[in-house]
Amino acid sequence: MQLLEDRILKEGKVFPDNILKVDSFLNHQVDIDLLVAMGEEFRRLYAGDNVTKILTIEASGIAIASFAALALKVPMVFAKKSQSKNIGKNLYHTKTMSFTHGREYDIVCSKDYLNEGDRILIIDDFLANGKALIGLIDLVNQSGATLVGCGIAIEKAFQKGGDELREKGVRIESLARIASMTDDSLTFIR
Ligand code: 5GP
Repeated sequence: MQLLEDRILKEGKVFPDNILKVDSFLNHQVDIDLLVAMGEEFRRLYAGDNVTKILTIEASGIAIASFAALALKVPMVFAKKSQSKNIGKNLYHTKTMSFTHGREYDIVCSKDYLNEGDRILIIDDFLANGKALIGLIDLVNQSGATLVGCGIAIEKAFQKGGDELREKGVRIESLARIASMTDDSLTFIR
C-alpha cells in the first residue's frame, strides 16, 4: 500500500534488534486518515470472505483493527494480556512470546465473544516472528471459529513469521512488506 510505504520511508525509525518505530502515525500518535485508508484496504482484500468478527491483541493492534471493523461492518474483539492468576473459566487462554519485550506472557479472550459460527479476520500492527499471530490463531481454534486470514499493517518479511505461517496454509495479507532495513535504508517487497 503506497500510502503506508511512503509514511514508513518518511517517518519510520530503525532501532537495534530489528525494531521499527512508527510512533508518529501508528503506534503512539495515530493518523486517522491513514487508518481509514488501511481499513478500506483490508475491506477490499477480505470483502468476499464473509468475515463476521475481527480479532486483535491489545494495545497497538486495537486502532488498526477498529478501522478494519468499521470498513467491514463487523465487531472488533481484542485479546487481553493477562496475569496467569487472573485466568478464569470463561476465557480462552494461551501463552505467547513478546517480540518487543522478549518474554512470555498470557493472552486471554472471553468465550462470550468468539463463537463456533464466527469467521475471524485477525489484524495486527506488525508481523515479525509470528508469535503474536500464532497465539491469536490458537484462541480462534479453541473457540471452534473459522480463521479467514490475517491482515497486517507492516510485515518485516526478512523475519520468519510470515513465510512460516503461509507455509502452514494461513492467508496473510500485509499492507507493507519490508524486505530489508538498516539505519539508512529500507526496502519493500512489492
Ligand atoms: P511477532 O510475534 O510476529 O514476533 O511480533 C509481532 C508483535 O510484536 C506485534 O504485535 C508488535 O506489537 C510487535 N512488534 C514486532 N516487531 C515490531 C517492530 O519492529 N516495531 C514495533 N513497534 N512493534 C513490533
